[in-house]
Amino acid sequence: MSKILILGAGISGHTAALVARRKLSKEHEVIVVSPNSNYQWVPSNIWVGVGLMKAKQVTFKLDPIYKKKNIKYIQALAVSIHPEGNSSTRNKAFVRAEFVVGDRKGEREDFEYDYLINATGPKLNFGATEGLGPNKFSQSVCTYGHAEEAWKNLEASFEKLENGEKQTFLIGTGHAMATCQGAAFEYALNIAFEINKRKLDHLAEIIWISNEYELGDFGMGGAYIKRGGYITQTKIFTESILKEYGIKWIKRAGVFKLEKGKAHFELLDGTYHEQHFDFSMLIPGFAGAGLKAFNQHDEDISTSVFAANGFMKVDADYTPKPYEEWKASDWPSIYQSTQYKNVYAAGIAFAPPHTMSKPMQSPNGTKIFPTPPRTGMPSGVIGKIIAENIAHQVKTGKTDEHPHKASMAKMGAACIVSAGYGLRNGAAATMTVFPIVQDWEKYPQWGRDITYTVGEAGLAGHWIKLILHYMFIYKAKAYPFWWLIPE
Ligand SMILES: Cc1cc2nc3c(=O)[nH]c(=O)nc-3n(C[C@H](O)[C@H](O)[C@H](O)COP(=O)(O)OP(=O)(O)OC[C@H]3O[C@@H](n4cnc5c(N)ncnc54)[C@H](O)[C@@H]3O)c2cc1C
Repeated sequence: MSKILILGAGISGHTAALVARRKLSKEHEVIVVSPNSNYQWVPSNIWVGVGLMKAKQVTFKLDPIYKKKNIKYIQALAVSIHPEGNSSTRNKAFVRAEFVVGDRKGEREDFEYDYLINATGPKLNFGATEGLGPNKFSQSVCTYGHAEEAWKNLEASFEKLENGEKQTFLIGTGHAMATCQGAAFEYALNIAFEINKRKLDHLAEIIWISNEYELGDFGMGGAYIKRGGYITQTKIFTESILKEYGIKWIKRAGVFKLEKGKAHFELLDGTYHEQHFDFSMLIPGFAGAGLKAFNQHDEDISTSVFAANGFMKVDADYTPKPYEEWKASDWPSIYQSTQYKNVYAAGIAFAPPHTMSKPMQSPNGTKIFPTPPRTGMPSGVIGKIIAENIAHQVKTGKTDEHPHKASMAKMGAACIVSAGYGLRNGAAATMTVFPIVQDWEKYPQWGRDITYTVGEAGLAGHWIKLILHYMFIYKAKAYPFWWLIPE
């Protein structure tokens, strides 16, 4: 009998749990430890943030699904991992977790495992930027709760516009090295769409602020895309969309402080500036979930298990090397811990070997460039292949075999930035890239396969986004034949 312990029930952890359960017979245990009893389809938080969806449309309770599927669910926050057990108390590897609700709230318990999947996603590191975040001076759409709060504030700004008051909306990245530009970009377009729908453009100023060197970098070093038969840069694609929506932009900006109605930022040229706003949604920097690791003697080994940013080190090439020497093969393919064979990190929880965007630094020494994008599709695929590899090992006893691989340098991704809502109203910029990580050896001309790296704008992409919302929620609810829907 094997115990597969999964930390986190987001896109990657939940996928891993369902796949592991489907692949393994009942004698094996699948356990999920996660603090939030709800599953949330994060990409649709954008629509919650503009009041077009309610939080309940992007969430559902995990427990009934896990009960139906014979997955054990523990509503707790993992605090530390003990991959060697503890020589004085417990032989077997375990995770220490703290209950977050109920009679045992605040109590800790140890959960043993044969295989561990760390799928704890990102810590939303608002603390890294003074004054950033929902309880301070800006909004977020990173969780459904944040998105609901953002909508309340946005609605108040819309009311002011209706009353003839001018409003400035500042949307983008809230840290010099934040990622997830795509989500913020989508939110900016949705705000522009809603303002335009209300015919209030003349009173609104929307500003996109980003740490990207050029717009359209999106943390993947930008891309050359095929668009209407021509090859163009994502810079041109993105700038033309912003122009079309009447959005101004500030690029190469590292936001370092927020006050009420004011953002302070440094530009890559070393100059410091301020930008006034009435409403602001800025994505925070991401860090690892803050798990600690201990060896059998209870000594802290966190620095060997986790990278400095708190993400788990896996089968990547972390050797420091100059940008020009980065290779597609540096990226991991099985997401196995560098230290422990039976420990894996899925989705955002793994440490990338390096960024995809070229590192940049201001004359003041501030690093201003996006960290790699951590999108849903690779997160789901990674969760799936880890579960498949574990199932393979459990069934065959061949603990060194990993028949399933999923390098981000060999995987494509689709990004649909949709604005508007409903079947007739809306438009989307759809971009697919293959592979996600540039491979200049294999594709010397464009860094990616130009046949599959394309961008288009129009209503069709918007339909796809809406359909995907329902499809992925169907899949996550593990309804009949859920596994036929790809990640
Ligand atoms: C607003 C927004 C819009 C987005 N839109 C898109 C999009 O359109 N397309 C796309 O591909 N991607 C999109 N993304 C990115 C996508 O949401 C992420 O790639 C995906 O959620 C990552 O999955 P994950 O499982 O690694 O992490 P998460 O989904 O963040 O899940 C992490 C899980 O771990 C749990 N957890 C945290 N700490 C602990 C702990 N200590 N112990 C146990 N559990 C813990 C959390 O509660 C959560 O259940 C968007 C992201 C945002 C913020």
